[in-house]
Parts: sequence; C-alpha cells; structure tokens
Amino acid sequence: MLPHARRLQPHEVDLSELDHHHEIAVIEIEPRSACELDCAHCDSKARRRLISIGLRRKPVHQVLDPSFATEVLRALANHEKVLASAVITIAGSGEPLASQHTPAIAAAARKAFPNSKLQLFTSGWGIESQQQMAERTPRELNTLWFSADRFHVDSIRRALKKSGQPSKPADAENYLTDRLAWANKYAHDHGVTFVVRAIIGRKSQYLYVANLVSKAREKSGVTDEIQISEAGMHPPASRLKERKDGLIYLRSDGRVTGTLE
Ligand code: SF4
Repeated sequence: MLPHARRLQPHEVDLSELDHHHEIAVIEIEPRSACELDCAHCDSKARRRLISIGLRRKPVHQVLDPSFATEVLRALANHEKVLASAVITIAGSGEPLASQHTPAIAAAARKAFPNSKLQLFTSGWGIESQQQMAERTPRELNTLWFSADRFHVDSIRRALKKSGQPSKPADAENYLTDRLAWANKYAHDHGVTFVVRAIIGRKSQYLYVANLVSKAREKSGVTDEIQISEAGMHPPASRLKERKDGLIYLRSDGRVTGTLE
C-alpha cells in the first residue's frame, strides 16, 4: 500500500501523491464494503473473527459515492502513469450488485476509460429475480465473474438460516444456481463473457462446481458452455507484484490507495 494513501474529499482529487514507478495497469473499485456472506476461504471471515474477539474495530458499512467515483476515474484517466487500456475490476469486500450505484460507477469507468477491460465479480447474494439481475448488472461490462463453489453454498446456507429462510443444503444450492442461471442469461443476452470463479483444488471440488453449473444451465435454458476458472487464494496485490504492474484501489470509504514495487 502506498505510504501516501489517504482519504480524499470530492473537491480535491489530486493523484500526484499516488505517483508510481510502474505503470498502473489495474484499477479496482469497491462499490460497498459489506458482504453478507462469510465464505471460509475469504479474508473477510478472518476479519470478522478478529472483530468478534475485540482485536479489531467493527467497520462502518460504506457505500461508494458515484459522483466521487466519477471524479476519481476522470482524474485517473488524465494521469500519465495510468494506462488507457487498464483493466477495471468492480469487486471489493462487499457484494457490488447490492449497491444501487454500481451501474452509474461502471458507466463512469467506461466513459473515462473507453478502451479498458471492465469486469465485475458477484456472488449473486441478495438478487431476487432475473429482472433485478438485469437492472443491477452494468451494461458496460466485458466480463461478468460469478463466484460459485462449496464455500459459497455453505456460506449462503448460513446466511439463509440467519435471515430465517429455509436453509438446508438443497435450499442453498437452489439459491445459488438460480442466481447463476440469471447471471448467465444476462451475460448471454448482452454479449458479456461469463466466467464461474471457484475454488477447485481437488477433483471432487471441480465436479461439485460442474454440477452447479449444469443445474444453472438447465434453469437458464442457455446452452453455451460456461467457463470455470480456478480462484486463486492470493490477494491481487501479490499477483501484481509478480507482473510488476501498478494498481489503484478506489475504496468504498473514499480512500484511494495503490500498490507498487
Ligand atoms: S462472497 Fe466474496 S467477499 Fe463475500 S465472504 Fe464470500 S468470498 Fe468473501
């Protein structure tokens, strides 16, 4: 993280403090900070454990302001170290599709970076219908990534239980495959590349995901092959370090941070 990273006010977006020795090839945007799931492999779970035993303060739920995001993206587009072809990832520690501002933020990203590869990661949690999936998914995406594996099903099960809904394993699988089917249909209808992102270290894990995908394809009626991609356990920063790319992270609380070296 950059030593100079700090919270900016909307009227003072000046990225000179974020000067990098490397070109910035990746911009990550976090539309909201809260995730209602607690997947076992996710560092959000470790954070929650630290909070529960009092070793960390409970974070305030933040939602990224779209006007502020637009200003930052414009400033980034004019920054000499930021590549016009930067990959822009809408993800973060909260579910992006749960923020009503995500479509506006994606539109601002596309406007500022017409040649970027724009992608979004979702778990589908909280989306209640095909129509809602279509309304909340930004039109400008190149790739829609959907997280689906046993970890996500288990964590959906716990979240369903918490909210008083039926929470047998089959209920959680149904919940996930419905959202997977809606996302797949959306991607198919809008010419967006669709990829399922999963922890698949073992053959049994791969078969489990393949089964979820096949159920979703049946539900959606979309017969295109669905790509399944192994999710790495490492944070993006360590991957970027190997590639010597720079990254800018626009956080939901308004901080603009980066990685380099
Ligand atoms: S849905 Fe994503 S952000 Fe939320 S707990 Fe699971 S892996 Fe972490």
